[in-house]
Amino acid sequence: MTTPTASVSLTGRDLHLSFGANKVLRGVDLQVDSGTTTTVIGPSGSGKSTLLRVLNRLHEPDCGDILLDGRSILKENPDRVRQRIGMVFQHFNLFPHKTVAENIMLGPRKLRGLSKAQARELALQQLDRVGLAGKADSRPGQLSGGQQQRVAIARALAMEPEVMFFDEATSALDPELVKGVLALMTDLARAGMTMVVVTHEMAFARSVSDSVLFMDRGAVVETGAPQELFDSPKTVRLQQFLSQVL
Ligand code: ADP
Ligand code: MG
Repeated sequence: MTTPTASVSLTGRDLHLSFGANKVLRGVDLQVDSGTTTTVIGPSGSGKSTLLRVLNRLHEPDCGDILLDGRSILKENPDRVRQRIGMVFQHFNLFPHKTVAENIMLGPRKLRGLSKAQARELALQQLDRVGLAGKADSRPGQLSGGQQQRVAIARALAMEPEVMFFDEATSALDPELVKGVLALMTDLARAGMTMVVVTHEMAFARSVSDSVLFMDRGAVVETGAPQELFDSPKTVRLQQFLSQVL
């Protein structure tokens, strides 16, 4: 796998967000160094997805700051921010009537101004990168869920993002398809991509991530190296969470 063009660091400082009376983020800090992977774990409803959505400016935080490569992005155009941060969701959201290559070409054509030929070339490169060379002219429906998710990853990579987010990217997959997607995410991490990965795959969190962030009720309850967190959780809340998921 080729090294990503330009991975950068990502910093969140004292991020707060409420939906009405519901305080969903209560002062979240995170530091993801360039080329490292941070996994975010925690119970359902703890604010993990909202954190990603604040970080890539799908939601505006009530207060706090977000820095990409050391510079605040809160005044940057949100569309530009979402080009810099690639996002992969649980549901891949591919256009079913377009081919795999056309799905990947859309963003580069519209947002990066590439010609059709350039975008096709880029799509083929990214498909090769995710192990799907030869599937360019298939329709998403002809692929397995795992292959579709790899197309979604190729689509994100085609925007040449500086950081990649994954929000439970394997949660909707049949168990036998999870491995291939996790292997691709592992390759990306090892190639030096800066990544934030929300996941329930504790083995991935332990073996691939440089740091783990445990969230509960909108706050970071514990953070540290995976070994530290998994082997000697300091809080009762993390101990309880781990006893449920391990
Ligand atoms: P997680 O990803 O950890 O399961 P979420 O970030 O999805 O948690 O949700 C955290 C809380 O924020 C939940 O109480 C959820 O109902 C609430 N929430 C998330 N998105 C919205 C929204 N767009 N409007 C109102 N409430 C929301
Ligand atoms: Mg979520």
